[in-house]
Amino acid sequence: MLHLDKESWVQTADGQPRGYIQPQALTELWFHTGTNCNLQCPFCLEGSKPGDNRISFLTFDDVQPLMDEALALGVEKYSFTGGEPFLNPDMVRILDYALDRRPCLVLSNATEPLMNRLHEVVPLLQKSNPLNFRVSLDHPDETKHDAGRGRGNFRKSLKTLGRLHKIGFGVSIARLIQEGEDTPAVTAAYHVHFRSVGLPDNIRIVAFPDFFPPGSVADVPQITEHCMKTYLGEAQRNAFMCNYSKMVVKKNGKPGVYACTLVDDDADYDLGATLKESMAARVMLGHHRCYSCFAYGASCSER
Ligand code: SF4
Repeated sequence: MLHLDKESWVQTADGQPRGYIQPQALTELWFHTGTNCNLQCPFCLEGSKPGDNRISFLTFDDVQPLMDEALALGVEKYSFTGGEPFLNPDMVRILDYALDRRPCLVLSNATEPLMNRLHEVVPLLQKSNPLNFRVSLDHPDETKHDAGRGRGNFRKSLKTLGRLHKIGFGVSIARLIQEGEDTPAVTAAYHVHFRSVGLPDNIRIVAFPDFFPPGSVADVPQITEHCMKTYLGEAQRNAFMCNYSKMVVKKNGKPGVYACTLVDDDADYDLGATLKESMAARVMLGHHRCYSCFAYGASCSER
């Protein structure tokens, strides 16, 4: 559901008060580094691909004031997603500044863009805060991963993951949830790959449902205020990313603050130019991806 009118923003189709999150405190700030990516995966929730500029590269000058504002609001961590962040020319400079202030997480496909800049990334190990990487390994079956990401990319990503760990960076992986999967068997299959590149079994595995490409209209139940109070407890409501995080997105040449990492395809979730105003805004759960948060506890965060 995209671009709701005023009434539909606060009400579901059958006239019930729509569920919402009133943000509490900004503990994580995400930056969308741009939708340009060296890969073109058909399932990408960002629709990223080579040369794509739906969301432009953030520059160091775009990022610095928002990082500083976030510090004043008590932020505990900075996270970065794309596209492929290491295609962004300013990425290492941005990390250099961020890591003097807070721990950082970067989501990467860990293929050529990161491999080619590893010599720039390694010195970041000496910063006062830790840098962690989350690498996409969609399936433990190499053939299935490569069907989406291109032949040979499973091996490249796995090898880079092993190198990052050996160098001393923290690592985790992101995978896709398959319908009807045997989750313990999936985890065990990843462990075999981890061991092959010297990784321990206890690497965090973050599993995601299918979020569908940007602009999709998915047929999911609508979330009412009643649902939020009846089916979820306070701790579950507090765990929604829009409660404690925001994402900076650059569109039309200007950075803006969106409600979370999952709704940057919908201008309704552009909450303003500053973090302070974005944290004051009530987030109505009208995007189809909100249902993934409600039903599966989906979250990009590692907290
Ligand atoms: S997708 Fe999830 S985190 Fe984002 S606005 Fe909807 S409920 Fe909040």
